[in-house]
Amino acid sequence: MQTSAKPNARRRAGTARLGAYILFVALVLGLCALALALSKPKKETGARPAPANTAHKAQNTPQSAPDAGPGLDQGTLILVNRDHCIDADGWELVTVYAEKSDDYLVKDTELAVRREVMPWLDRWLSDFAAATGVRDVNVVAGHRTAAYQQQLYQSALAREGQTYADTYLARPGHSEHHTGLAVDLDTYDVSSGASYGFDGNGDYAWLTENAWRYGFILRYPPEKADVTGIGYESWHFRYVGIPHAWYMQENDLCLEEYLDLLRAHGPEDPLLIDTPLGRWQVFFFPAETLTLPEGDYEISGDNDGGYVVTQAQ
Ligand SMILES: [Zn+2]
Repeated sequence: MQTSAKPNARRRAGTARLGAYILFVALVLGLCALALALSKPKKETGARPAPANTAHKAQNTPQSAPDAGPGLDQGTLILVNRDHCIDADGWELVTVYAEKSDDYLVKDTELAVRREVMPWLDRWLSDFAAATGVRDVNVVAGHRTAAYQQQLYQSALAREGQTYADTYLARPGHSEHHTGLAVDLDTYDVSSGASYGFDGNGDYAWLTENAWRYGFILRYPPEKADVTGIGYESWHFRYVGIPHAWYMQENDLCLEEYLDLLRAHGPEDPLLIDTPLGRWQVFFFPAETLTLPEGDYEISGDNDGGYVVTQAQ
């Protein structure tokens, strides 16, 4: 009967459509699962020894296929200077105020740094207070957007002129503060409520001398101004990680010089770094020949066409 056959035919058609739909959904889910599996990092990282009681977060942030490594502008060794700009953003930031101990100060509740830097910053400044009894260090700059850097540059230009602005302020896109890996320190005088420039003298010399133990470097030493393009800044410190900070300090290299040196050390001829806190090997890959090594490692782009791989021994 047609009257009964039609609904049956519709039911059969409906069942067939439902089946096709289920098949389609299963296919999509399968493809998603496959894509997720492929996008997972091949290796976990961050195995290097850390100072006692110091948490260390892995620094690499793989973003695409397993063998592609992180972006060239990702990682803690990226170079940002006069000749190397950065437009990446979206770092995972934390406010210093929310995470800090009571042993130092921060300018406001908004000032932020990259998540992986904060445990090291906190330990560095807290250990300084424990060693010296001085608790007036004030963190006055951390992550900055390019828009904010533009404001700072323009106001320095208007106030002090071109020479000053170009000596002490990076152009927007060229400031290390964009990376969230750099901090500026100050000292705060409770009695007057004024904040003073950090000169690194007296008790404060401890911070500069011991910065490497926490993975920081004094980024703009006076004798390197012609290489860095920035005049001496006793207050500006940059996080790069312990073995790199140690090597730069021991061998009197600024970041530009250190990265140049690393370019001569491929995986067959790694740079061996022996520090009082452990031993590492470090080597460089041009982006086009990147082959991720076996075992635990950290990887960082250099923001200049290559990657640096760091392995604890
Ligand atoms: Zn700075």
